[in-house]
Order: sequence, then structure tokens, then C-alpha cells
Amino acid sequence: MSEAAPADPVRALSRKARDLDAVHAATDRRDAFVLPEGLIYLDGNSLGAMSKAARDAAADAVTRQWGEQLIRAWNESGWWSAPERVGDRIAELIGAPAGSVVVGDSTTISLYKAVHAATRLRPGRRVVLTDPDSFPTDVHVTRGVCEQLGLTLELVSPNDVEARLAGSNDVALAAYSQVDYRTGQLWDLAAITTAAHDAGALVCWDLCHSAGVIDVGLSGGGADFAVGCGYKYLSGGPGAPAFLFVAPQHLGDFNNPILGWNGHATPFAMSPEHIPADGITRARVGTPPVLGIATLEGALTAYDGLKVVDVRRRSLSLTGFFVECLDVLGVDLPVVTPRDDARGSQVSLRHPEAYAVVQALIARGVIGDFRESDIVRLGFAPLYLSHEDTLTAAVHVRDVIVRREFEHEQFRARATVT
Ligand SMILES: *Cc1c(COP(=O)(O)O)cnc(C)c1O
Repeated sequence: MSEAAPADPVRALSRKARDLDAVHAATDRRDAFVLPEGLIYLDGNSLGAMSKAARDAAADAVTRQWGEQLIRAWNESGWWSAPERVGDRIAELIGAPAGSVVVGDSTTISLYKAVHAATRLRPGRRVVLTDPDSFPTDVHVTRGVCEQLGLTLELVSPNDVEARLAGSNDVALAAYSQVDYRTGQLWDLAAITTAAHDAGALVCWDLCHSAGVIDVGLSGGGADFAVGCGYKYLSGGPGAPAFLFVAPQHLGDFNNPILGWNGHATPFAMSPEHIPADGITRARVGTPPVLGIATLEGALTAYDGLKVVDVRRRSLSLTGFFVECLDVLGVDLPVVTPRDDARGSQVSLRHPEAYAVVQALIARGVIGDFRESDIVRLGFAPLYLSHEDTLTAAVHVRDVIVRREFEHEQFRARATVT
């Protein structure tokens, strides 16, 4: 029996998977998460898995805080200050200073606030640049702000944005995602930021697919504004509040386009005049979604004792190993995601029947997702996935393709959420 072993590619990959898992053991947080037995969850980039701490924090916020403390919880359980407190924890993960991040609204609304406020810091400049291939809400929000303020939206690929900016003097803001949500391509945050600043423009970064998996280095990169999602890699739960970063040098001039009482200097003075609060608090709007923030705060404890650079290393190892497995197993699908390190924490494959491929994988217990028009998108949330899981997933991909399971009728009917 054993003589046949060296020729078995799965056997060799399995040994390598175990070795890599040993190398990256310090960033393994699998035990902190609740995942159904036998399931390989490659959708943590869309809805992060639930951790025990997130579940317990949600239960405590409902049962003890709301149930027993009632209104007193605003003070006694720190509900009022939660947007800034949890913002500070996220700031550590994205390389921003304390007091520059707040949580509370959706990514869409946070982006609206950032784009609107940023363009007003560059009066006289009429152009806003964004990526036509951005997640649609990013394009919609940016377009909406431009229409409201009489600015011009120019759709420019991140590939071309540095050339567009060079020598220009008409751009107020460049609003880009650090990671392309479809292809997983990682753009050069520092280089694009520098190009914008050299042209006198500001930059707003969308970190939805970066936060928690990439050592973003927001301050080191000189970013002006940023937003990101709480329910993706950060695992804050469905509809978790998003975060908004405003660089300290812009806080004094930050004009929140939604003047609410939570962003007021003295909210309980109940004054009809609006005096903005100092610091990042002025980016708040109305009563924060307390239960969502509490759940997110619990979820973030998964990062306690971890450095994001080490999580990033694990992420690159997982995605790199996945592509290696596909190669060794002879899975002949185009890999859309860059093979060098310029990628986020996902691997996207192209297949004309991508939707059915994803459904067939789900039937095998490997959950990924489909993105228009032909992308099989597989996210590798590093804290709860191992290299062994990665190999198992690659074997399932091979089997779905080789056995042509995507041709089965039951995998072709589209659900509402893809
Ligand atoms: C996930 C995601 C969003 C989601 O925005 P919501 O307001 O939470 O619906 C926005 N932008 C990007 C780039 C995303 O990846």
C-alpha cells in the first residue's frame, strides 16, 4: 500500500497542509468560533462566522443589559460611548490612531458621510474619481454626492488613477476600495494616496474586504478617510454596524452632512443650535444600534493577542496554498485573483456556469458565493480556516468540475441572495 503513496497528490498536499498549519498555529482561532461540523465556510468575506464571544456578547446585551439594566445601561454598560470605544478597537486593526474611528451606521451611510465631507474640504475642485468596478453601493453613493453638490463623477480604474491624477488640479477626491470585491485584487493604498496628495486631492478608502485580514496601515499610508464593514471578516454578525475613519488632521474641519443630535457637542442640552462635538464624535448621527455594536465588540475579541501582520501572513498562506492545490489537482479554471501577494483574502475563479458551480459546492458542504457574471468567489477568513480545510475545499472544487455536477438541474435555479 505505502509504495503508492508518493504518487498520490492529495497525500502529499495533505502532509504540506499539516506542516503549514503547524507553522501558522499561533493565528488559529478556530476554537473561538461556532461552525457546523463538517462545513467548510468560504464566505467569511460576505458574512463572517459567529464566534462564541459575539454570541455571548449579544445574549448579554439583550438579557442582562436591556432586560435588567434597562435605560440605566446607557451609562452602566457604556452604550453611549460604544461607537467610539469599538471604533478604537478597529483603529488598532487598520493602523489608525485612537480617536479617529467611529462605528454605528452602515457602510453605505458611512461612505456618504465621508465622500460628502471630503469633497467639501476641497472647494473649487469639481471632480471625484471612483472605480467603475467598485461594489455598486460605492459608485451609487459617490454619484449621489456629486449630483447633490454639483460635482462631476469620473469613473477611472485603479490601474489608471495615478496617471489621471498626475499633474492635475481639478480632483477633489479619489474614492477607492483597497481590495476589489470580485477579483480580490489588492490595490496600492500608499501609492494611490500619494498620487492624490501630490495633485492636491484627498482619498477615501473602502476597507470592506481589508479590515481584519490586511495590515492596512491607514495612517502610515496617509489616508484621509476610510470606511469598512463590520459583518465581513470582522464577524460582527448580520447587518453589523460599519466603521468610519477620519484622519486626525481633518477632524477639526469635518462637516458631517447628516447633522444629528449624537454628533452634537452637548447632546443632552437639547439645544436647537448645532454645535459639532470635538473629535470623531462629530461623525456620529443618531442613536447607535446598540445590540449590533455589542455583538461586534464581542466578535473583535477574536483578535485579542494577535497582530494583524500575522493574520495577513496566514491569509496569504491559505489563499496561496489553495491555488497550489488547484494546480496540483489539475483544476483547469482561470484564477482571476492575482497569484502574487497583491491580493486580499479570497480566491476567485472564472467559470461560465459559476452560479451552478457554487451551488454544487454548497451541496458538498463548501460554502462560497457567486458574483456576476461568471465568478466563483471563495473567501478565506484566516482565523477559522486551516490549510487542511483549504485542501479539502480544493478537492471538492475538482470533483464538482470533473464530475460536471454544475450541469445538474437543481443547481441552476437562482435564489434572491446570491
Ligand atoms: C460589502 C460591501 C459594502 C456593503 O455596504 P452595506 O451598506 O453594508 O450594504 C459596501 N461596499 C463594499 C466595497 C463592500 O464590499
